[in-house]
Amino acid sequence: MDGRERVVDSHFPTCKCLLERALRCGFPMGGGFLNASFGLRAGVKASAVEARGMGRNGVLARIAFALLFLAGLAAMLPAPARAAEKPLLAFSARVAGDDARTRIVIDFEQKPEFSVHYVAAPERVIIDLPATAFGFPAENLSPRGLFRDIRYGTMDETSARIVLTARKPVKLALAEVQPNDDGSYRLVLDAEMTSGEAFAELVKTQSWDMPAAPARDPLAMVEKDDVFTVAVDAGHGGIDAGATGAGTKTPEKTITLAFARILADRLNRIDGVKAFLTRDDDTFLSLSERVTLARQGHADLFISLHADTLAQKDIRGATVYTLSDRASDRMAENLAARENLSDELAGFSIKSGPPEVADILLDLARRETQAFSTALAANVVESFEGQVGLINNPHRYAGFQVLRAPDIPSVLLELGFLSNEEDEKLLLDESWRGKVAERIADAVRRYRDRAVQNGG
Ligand SMILES: [Zn+2]
Repeated sequence: MDGRERVVDSHFPTCKCLLERALRCGFPMGGGFLNASFGLRAGVKASAVEARGMGRNGVLARIAFALLFLAGLAAMLPAPARAAEKPLLAFSARVAGDDARTRIVIDFEQKPEFSVHYVAAPERVIIDLPATAFGFPAENLSPRGLFRDIRYGTMDETSARIVLTARKPVKLALAEVQPNDDGSYRLVLDAEMTSGEAFAELVKTQSWDMPAAPARDPLAMVEKDDVFTVAVDAGHGGIDAGATGAGTKTPEKTITLAFARILADRLNRIDGVKAFLTRDDDTFLSLSERVTLARQGHADLFISLHADTLAQKDIRGATVYTLSDRASDRMAENLAARENLSDELAGFSIKSGPPEVADILLDLARRETQAFSTALAANVVESFEGQVGLINNPHRYAGFQVLRAPDIPSVLLELGFLSNEEDEKLLLDESWRGKVAERIADAVRRYRDRAVQNGG
């Protein structure tokens, strides 16, 4: 038994002792801690009231007795325990996010030093902390999003650890301590999905002697380079087939993938432009995964491709959608609602949005990004006019989840409607696909040229 355990086991007949014990034991207790703390404060108040009612000598005698008592207690404590620092108090925690990005926030009374490490098989992220009392209910850190298990606790008398077991390869895009308004601090851990190779590299190159904690502005993650990168997103995939062709019964996911490949090829022919596909086979991607892949690929533009159905079978032509909290019209609203169901169809929950989206910087970026998205949409419509069939009011907007990257101008293109047999024929036609891809590539080129001119 070491000194620390003895401290935990000794009995102090004061309210403070309950608090100390709880702190040192490191059990998640949340409300229990709050009560203990309140009890302590209430006790102090009661003493003050008593003191006012007593004579001066009585107060002095009490203080003297209290000091003697405390001195006696201190003498009873083993030396190492007295020397050991008071553990940090982690008093609240929360986790939010989805299968592509997950944020964990832990509030501390004092500023915590920490280090981050990665361990393979299964993929884990390890956060090492000084001695810490975890004073929040265990359910605050219930596993979700990228993590299937979250554990935390004391390692020895000077250290504590948080172990995040991931569902797939992850990396921390951000790990830093930020000040709270009330003088406390929060440890913010932003995890993002990554490739198996990237995770293996993290494990291999890290040093356990040095703190490996990246601290980066999430907005700085889209690095500026000379290459203009376009993420081409083939809508649907895998278990989510999307719409079905009226005549041939071809699934939307097949049409979008074939078209995405042609578009990426046309874009890659433009000097200084590099296109990549979010999916290059028939696999399911959640909407958040698509956005995350675009950000990780440092995309300057995001183009999601679709070909949906409508109840009115005579409606045909292409539509360009941008993001808006309010839909331009009922058709746009319904379409966004259907597209947003994609995650649910595949068994994913869509109840969690991106974590703490209210961040002011992200909001500003979003507004600027929206202006660029609208400019790109206008360019696409311009490129299509007289060349490719468009519906009435071809630039529409609604709350598409897949267009929610705060820092990448994004559009969703409905190339035509699979509910219309004429459109379906075109959507399956090789030469039509080539022509439309050419027009989109031209719109991107003009957009890029204007962005470069304006120093973007
Ligand atoms: Zn679709």
